[in-house]
Amino acid sequence: MERLMVLGTGNASVTRCYNTCFALHDGEHAILVDAGGGNGIIHRLNQMGLDLASIRHAFVSHQHTDHLLGMIWIIRQIATLMLADQYEGYFCIHAGGGLTQTIRTISQLTLAPVMADLVDRRILLQEVEDGEKRRLGTYQFTFFDIGSSLTHQFGFTARLHNGRSLVFLGDEPLLNAGRRHAKDCDWLLSEAYCLYAQRAIFKPHEKFHSTVREACEAAAELNVCNLVLWHTEDTQLADRKRLYTEEGRQFFHGNLFVPDDLEEIIL
Ligand SMILES: [Zn+2]
Repeated sequence: MERLMVLGTGNASVTRCYNTCFALHDGEHAILVDAGGGNGIIHRLNQMGLDLASIRHAFVSHQHTDHLLGMIWIIRQIATLMLADQYEGYFCIHAGGGLTQTIRTISQLTLAPVMADLVDRRILLQEVEDGEKRRLGTYQFTFFDIGSSLTHQFGFTARLHNGRSLVFLGDEPLLNAGRRHAKDCDWLLSEAYCLYAQRAIFKPHEKFHSTVREACEAAAELNVCNLVLWHTEDTQLADRKRLYTEEGRQFFHGNLFVPDDLEEIIL
């Protein structure tokens, strides 16, 4: 069954949950999207029962610490499996805006030579371009530059096996590029830093993020069916789902998901 495995739901600064990242699982293999900021990604994969050998493709949306650095740990662990003959074939990491070269450099600087030597041999770094279509495992992806003014950042649309469309926006509000792709989509994966009611406390706009209300208003305007919100603050995790859902429902009347870390969402 196709599902979204939610490995983390927090923004860059969280300490009570993991940074936002997820896997798209087709029932056999998983595509990892972002990896959080550290080796907590390995624990999260273990907790969700996701075997590294089942991950053949990964995508990194942009170069910020909370999305990129966990991928270095993934490379390290997969290299270890490859060296032990416990990983078959290639592991492909897709990223744009020159980020593949950054990943290559960090790997060379921080991994043992025997592991770093696998990069470009069995661990393949594949640069994506705006508008490029590419097959990742059993899914057809279309990558797009979200138009961030901070750094190169890419999102994607994927066509699910069940015919539905899934759009990932990275960790910035819906900009014009994203709007074109997100219009009428079945699943929209969007950041929402905090409640609109708490914007004076968390100051999302200064950080190029949006509130629950704004993400929901945008999704409603674009006629989205299912909206997933994450990349949030972590000061009220026990009540986050309820509070964010209460605020969001006033502005978005489709299905609203505010997952916790380790939740699975059936697509
Ligand atoms: Zn982020």
